[in-house]
Amino acid sequence: MYLIIRCPQCVTFTYVDNFQRWKLCPTCGHAYEVSKAPMYLEVQDHHEAEHIVRQMEKHLHANKKKDFSAEEKEELRHHYTTALKQRQQQHPVH
Ligand SMILES: [Zn+2]
Repeated sequence: MYLIIRCPQCVTFTYVDNFQRWKLCPTCGHAYEVSKAPMYLEVQDHHEAEHIVRQMEKHLHANKKKDFSAEEKEELRHHYTTALKQRQQQHPVH
């Protein structure tokens, strides 16, 4: 699992392995504790994480927003779990 988080200093979205405790921000060089950073979503692989991070940045940019509201975060999680379930039904994992 990977966690989509945001750097508390420069607010760049990024992702970490869920066992990782510290993250060094590639954008501003700030080292921070993963558990203290705002967490947005848990995803299954890093390709997905990268894709979602880009979508999230695009979304904020398009809407001229600085952050997601609690409802938007909830929606994001819902979208992701729904998409995941559909995929598992099409390609069942044994
Ligand atoms: Zn940063």
